Amino acid sequence: MKFIGAHVSAAGGVENAPIRAHEIGATGFALFTKNQRQWKAKPLTDESIEAFKANCEKYGFSSDSIIPHDSYLINLGHPEAPKLQKSRDAFLDEMQRCEQLGIKLLNFHPGSHLKKISEKECLSIIAESINVALDQTKTVKAVIENTAGQGTNMGFRFEHLAEIISQVTDKDRVGVCIDTAHAFAAGYDISTEEGFSETFEQFGEIVGFEMLLAMHLNDSKKELGTKVDRHESLGDGHIGWTPFRQIMSDSRFDGIPLILETPNTDRWAQEIAELKRFQSV
Ligand SMILES: [Zn+2]
Ligand SMILES: [Zn+2]
Repeated sequence: MKFIGAHVSAAGGVENAPIRAHEIGATGFALFTKNQRQWKAKPLTDESIEAFKANCEKYGFSSDSIIPHDSYLINLGHPEAPKLQKSRDAFLDEMQRCEQLGIKLLNFHPGSHLKKISEKECLSIIAESINVALDQTKTVKAVIENTAGQGTNMGFRFEHLAEIISQVTDKDRVGVCIDTAHAFAAGYDISTEEGFSETFEQFGEIVGFEMLLAMHLNDSKKELGTKVDRHESLGDGHIGWTPFRQIMSDSRFDGIPLILETPNTDRWAQEIAELKRFQSV
Protein backbone atom coordinates (compact mmCIF):
# COMPACT_ATOMS: atom_id res chain seq x y z
CA MET A 1 0.00 0.00 0.00
CA LYS A 2 1.34 3.37 -1.00
CA PHE A 3 -0.07 6.72 0.11
CA ILE A 4 0.18 9.03 -2.88
CA GLY A 5 -0.72 12.69 -2.64
CA ALA A 6 0.37 16.30 -2.70
CA HIS A 7 1.05 19.20 -0.37
CA VAL A 8 -2.44 20.68 -0.47
CA SER A 9 -3.63 24.07 0.71
CA ALA A 10 -5.07 24.46 4.19
CA ALA A 11 -6.57 27.86 3.34
CA GLY A 12 -9.74 28.46 5.32
CA GLY A 13 -8.71 25.93 7.97
CA VAL A 14 -6.78 22.67 8.27
CA GLU A 15 -10.05 20.77 7.90
CA ASN A 16 -10.10 21.73 4.21
CA ALA A 17 -6.85 19.91 3.42
CA PRO A 18 -8.29 16.35 3.41
CA ILE A 19 -11.17 17.54 1.21
CA ARG A 20 -8.73 19.02 -1.31
CA ALA A 21 -6.59 15.90 -1.21
CA HIS A 22 -9.63 13.72 -1.88
CA GLU A 23 -10.62 15.93 -4.84
CA ILE A 24 -7.36 15.18 -6.65
CA GLY A 25 -7.55 11.43 -6.06
CA ALA A 26 -4.89 11.42 -3.35
CA THR A 27 -4.51 8.62 -0.81
CA GLY A 28 -2.21 10.71 1.39
CA PHE A 29 -1.36 14.39 1.76
CA ALA A 30 0.84 17.09 3.27
CA LEU A 31 -0.21 20.49 4.63
CA PHE A 32 0.90 23.41 6.75
CA THR A 33 -0.92 23.44 10.08
CA LYS A 34 -0.28 27.21 10.31
CA ASN A 35 0.81 30.01 8.00
CA GLN A 36 4.31 28.90 7.00
CA ARG A 37 5.63 32.44 6.61
CA GLN A 38 4.71 33.68 10.07
CA TRP A 39 6.21 32.89 13.45
CA LYS A 40 3.03 33.11 15.46
CA ALA A 41 -0.26 31.44 14.77
CA LYS A 42 -3.57 31.31 16.54
CA PRO A 43 -4.18 28.01 18.31
CA LEU A 44 -6.28 25.49 16.42
CA THR A 45 -9.89 25.65 17.51
CA ASP A 46 -11.71 22.57 18.79
CA GLU A 47 -14.11 22.87 15.85
CA SER A 48 -11.26 22.87 13.37
CA ILE A 49 -9.58 19.89 15.04
CA GLU A 50 -12.82 17.87 15.09
CA ALA A 51 -13.62 18.76 11.48
CA PHE A 52 -10.09 17.79 10.38
CA LYS A 53 -10.39 14.39 12.06
CA ALA A 54 -13.91 13.85 10.68
CA ASN A 55 -12.82 14.68 7.13
CA CYS A 56 -9.77 12.41 7.35
CA GLU A 57 -12.02 9.60 8.50
CA LYS A 58 -14.62 10.32 5.83
CA TYR A 59 -12.09 10.23 3.00
CA GLY A 60 -10.01 7.37 4.38
CA PHE A 61 -6.80 9.19 5.33
CA SER A 62 -5.12 7.27 8.15
CA SER A 63 -2.48 8.97 10.28
CA ASP A 64 0.19 7.01 8.35
CA SER A 65 -0.76 8.87 5.19
CA ILE A 66 -0.47 12.47 6.45
CA ILE A 67 2.73 14.46 6.89
CA PRO A 68 2.62 18.19 7.63
CA HIS A 69 5.61 20.39 6.73
CA ASP A 70 6.85 22.92 9.28
CA SER A 71 7.39 26.64 8.68
CA TYR A 72 10.25 27.75 6.44
CA LEU A 73 11.31 30.29 9.08
CA ILE A 74 12.45 27.66 11.55
CA ASN A 75 16.20 26.92 11.78
CA LEU A 76 16.82 24.18 14.33
CA GLY A 77 20.57 24.48 13.80
CA HIS A 78 20.76 28.24 14.36
CA PRO A 79 24.18 29.30 15.66
CA GLU A 80 22.80 32.12 17.85
CA ALA A 81 21.06 31.20 21.12
CA PRO A 82 18.10 33.64 21.09
CA LYS A 83 17.21 32.82 17.49
CA LEU A 84 17.67 29.11 18.11
CA GLN A 85 15.25 29.37 21.00
CA LYS A 86 12.70 31.13 18.81
CA SER A 87 12.97 28.30 16.28
CA ARG A 88 12.71 25.63 18.97
CA ASP A 89 9.59 27.27 20.41
CA ALA A 90 7.95 27.48 16.99
CA PHE A 91 8.88 23.87 16.23
CA LEU A 92 7.40 22.67 19.51
CA ASP A 93 4.20 24.52 18.69
CA GLU A 94 4.06 22.72 15.34
CA MET A 95 4.69 19.34 16.98
CA GLN A 96 1.89 20.04 19.45
CA ARG A 97 -0.48 21.02 16.65
CA CYS A 98 0.21 17.66 15.02
CA GLU A 99 -0.65 15.86 18.23
CA GLN A 100 -3.87 17.83 18.56
CA LEU A 101 -4.81 16.76 15.05
CA GLY A 102 -3.92 13.11 15.65
CA ILE A 103 -1.03 13.35 13.18
CA LYS A 104 2.03 11.17 13.78
CA LEU A 105 4.63 12.82 11.52
CA LEU A 106 6.10 16.32 11.12
CA ASN A 107 8.54 17.01 8.33
CA PHE A 108 11.18 19.76 8.51
CA HIS A 109 14.40 20.93 6.87
CA PRO A 110 17.22 20.27 9.35
CA GLY A 111 18.80 23.74 9.61
CA SER A 112 21.56 26.08 8.44
CA HIS A 113 24.93 26.97 9.94
CA LEU A 114 24.92 30.49 8.40
CA LYS A 115 28.74 30.25 8.15
CA LYS A 116 29.00 30.96 11.88
CA ILE A 117 29.67 27.45 13.14
CA SER A 118 31.01 24.23 11.62
CA GLU A 119 28.77 21.70 9.88
CA LYS A 120 29.48 19.26 12.70
CA GLU A 121 28.38 21.73 15.37
CA CYS A 122 25.28 22.59 13.38
CA LEU A 123 24.28 18.90 13.14
CA SER A 124 24.65 18.54 16.92
CA ILE A 125 22.49 21.60 17.57
CA ILE A 126 19.82 20.17 15.23
CA ALA A 127 19.88 16.83 17.07
CA GLU A 128 19.55 18.63 20.40
CA SER A 129 16.62 20.66 19.04
CA ILE A 130 14.90 17.40 18.13
CA ASN A 131 15.60 15.96 21.60
CA VAL A 132 14.11 19.05 23.22
CA ALA A 133 10.93 18.80 21.10
CA LEU A 134 10.52 15.05 21.63
CA ASP A 135 10.88 15.51 25.38
CA GLN A 136 7.88 17.81 25.43
CA THR A 137 5.61 15.75 23.17
CA LYS A 138 4.38 12.18 23.27
CA THR A 139 3.52 10.63 19.94
CA VAL A 140 4.53 12.76 16.96
CA LYS A 141 7.73 11.80 15.12
CA ALA A 142 10.34 14.30 13.90
CA VAL A 143 10.95 13.63 10.21
CA ILE A 144 14.17 15.17 8.88
CA GLU A 145 14.15 16.07 5.18
CA ASN A 146 17.21 15.87 2.95
CA THR A 147 18.00 19.19 1.29
CA ALA A 148 19.50 20.38 -1.97
CA GLY A 149 22.34 21.98 0.01
CA GLN A 150 21.40 25.47 -1.06
CA GLY A 151 23.18 28.25 0.86
CA THR A 152 24.35 26.88 4.21
CA ASN A 153 21.57 24.29 4.56
CA MET A 154 22.62 21.04 6.17
CA GLY A 155 21.09 17.69 5.23
CA PHE A 156 22.29 17.37 1.65
CA ARG A 157 24.29 14.19 2.34
CA PHE A 158 22.79 10.98 3.73
CA GLU A 159 25.66 11.11 6.23
CA HIS A 160 24.21 14.34 7.68
CA LEU A 161 20.87 12.64 8.30
CA ALA A 162 22.59 9.64 9.89
CA GLU A 163 24.71 11.88 12.12
CA ILE A 164 21.67 13.78 13.39
CA ILE A 165 19.79 10.53 14.07
CA SER A 166 22.78 9.09 15.92
CA GLN A 167 22.53 11.98 18.39
CA VAL A 168 18.75 11.76 18.88
CA THR A 169 17.91 9.94 22.10
CA ASP A 170 14.53 8.45 21.18
CA LYS A 171 15.22 6.63 17.90
CA ASP A 172 11.59 5.45 17.72
CA ARG A 173 10.40 9.01 17.18
CA VAL A 174 12.79 10.19 14.50
CA GLY A 175 13.00 9.42 10.80
CA VAL A 176 13.64 10.95 7.40
CA CYS A 177 11.83 12.19 4.33
CA ILE A 178 13.71 12.00 1.05
CA ASP A 179 12.88 14.66 -1.52
CA THR A 180 13.84 13.45 -4.99
CA ALA A 181 14.53 16.95 -6.37
CA HIS A 182 16.72 17.80 -3.39
CA ALA A 183 18.67 14.52 -3.70
CA PHE A 184 19.26 15.15 -7.40
CA ALA A 185 20.32 18.77 -6.88
CA ALA A 186 22.63 17.59 -4.10
CA GLY A 187 24.39 15.29 -6.57
CA TYR A 188 22.61 11.91 -6.25
CA ASP A 189 21.85 10.90 -9.83
CA ILE A 190 18.52 9.13 -9.48
CA SER A 191 17.57 9.89 -13.10
CA THR A 192 18.81 6.53 -14.36
CA GLU A 193 17.90 3.04 -13.16
CA GLU A 194 21.49 2.34 -12.12
CA GLY A 195 21.84 5.69 -10.37
CA PHE A 196 18.58 5.17 -8.55
CA SER A 197 19.61 1.69 -7.35
CA GLU A 198 23.01 2.91 -6.25
CA THR A 199 21.60 5.95 -4.44
CA PHE A 200 19.09 3.93 -2.44
CA GLU A 201 21.61 1.21 -1.74
CA GLN A 202 23.74 3.94 -0.15
CA PHE A 203 20.71 5.27 1.65
CA GLY A 204 20.00 1.82 3.06
CA GLU A 205 23.54 1.45 4.33
CA ILE A 206 24.01 4.97 5.70
CA VAL A 207 20.55 5.83 7.05
CA GLY A 208 18.49 2.63 6.76
CA PHE A 209 15.05 2.08 5.23
CA GLU A 210 13.52 1.64 8.67
CA MET A 211 14.09 5.39 9.05
CA LEU A 212 12.30 6.30 5.81
CA LEU A 213 8.97 7.74 6.89
CA ALA A 214 8.03 9.79 3.80
CA MET A 215 9.10 10.89 0.32
CA HIS A 216 8.64 14.14 -1.57
CA LEU A 217 8.21 13.36 -5.25
CA ASN A 218 9.43 16.27 -7.34
CA ASP A 219 11.24 16.63 -10.63
CA SER A 220 14.03 19.23 -10.74
CA LYS A 221 14.27 22.40 -12.82
CA LYS A 222 18.00 22.44 -12.10
CA GLU A 223 20.69 20.03 -13.17
CA LEU A 224 22.45 17.32 -11.19
CA GLY A 225 24.63 18.61 -8.36
CA THR A 226 23.71 22.29 -8.79
CA LYS A 227 22.60 22.53 -5.15
CA VAL A 228 19.69 24.70 -6.24
CA ASP A 229 16.21 23.78 -4.98
CA ARG A 230 13.67 24.30 -7.78
CA HIS A 231 10.87 21.80 -8.17
CA GLU A 232 9.37 20.85 -11.53
CA SER A 233 6.32 18.81 -12.55
CA LEU A 234 7.04 15.08 -12.88
CA GLY A 235 8.67 14.26 -16.20
CA ASP A 236 9.30 17.90 -17.15
CA GLY A 237 12.63 18.41 -15.40
CA HIS A 238 16.13 16.95 -15.44
CA ILE A 239 15.12 13.86 -13.48
CA GLY A 240 12.38 12.43 -15.73
CA TRP A 241 9.96 9.60 -14.94
CA THR A 242 12.49 6.81 -14.26
CA PRO A 243 12.80 7.05 -10.45
CA PHE A 244 9.10 7.72 -9.92
CA ARG A 245 8.23 4.59 -11.88
CA GLN A 246 10.75 2.66 -9.78
CA ILE A 247 9.50 4.00 -6.45
CA MET A 248 5.95 2.93 -7.35
CA SER A 249 6.96 -0.69 -7.92
CA ASP A 250 9.44 -0.99 -5.04
CA SER A 251 8.11 -2.29 -1.71
CA ARG A 252 10.77 -0.38 0.25
CA PHE A 253 8.58 2.68 -0.35
CA ASP A 254 5.35 1.08 0.91
CA GLY A 255 3.28 2.40 3.82
CA ILE A 256 4.61 5.97 3.78
CA PRO A 257 3.27 9.24 2.35
CA LEU A 258 4.64 9.97 -1.15
CA ILE A 259 3.99 13.66 -1.59
CA LEU A 260 4.08 15.89 -4.67
CA GLU A 261 5.35 19.42 -4.16
CA THR A 262 5.37 20.09 -7.88
CA PRO A 263 4.66 23.66 -9.01
CA ASN A 264 1.65 23.19 -11.27
CA THR A 265 -1.22 22.35 -8.91
CA ASP A 266 -3.57 21.87 -11.88
CA ARG A 267 -1.57 18.81 -12.83
CA TRP A 268 -1.60 17.07 -9.45
CA ALA A 269 -4.63 14.88 -10.22
CA GLN A 270 -2.98 13.75 -13.44
CA GLU A 271 0.40 13.17 -11.77
CA ILE A 272 -1.24 11.11 -9.02
CA ALA A 273 -3.17 9.04 -11.58
CA GLU A 274 0.04 8.43 -13.50
CA LEU A 275 1.91 7.36 -10.34
CA LYS A 276 -0.92 4.99 -9.41
CA ARG A 277 -0.65 3.35 -12.85
CA PHE A 278 2.96 2.41 -12.12
CA GLN A 279 2.04 0.80 -8.82
CA SER A 280 2.55 -2.93 -8.67
CA VAL A 281 -0.54 -4.39 -7.09
ZN1 LIG B 1 10.43 18.79 0.23
ZN1 LIG C 1 12.40 21.80 -2.29
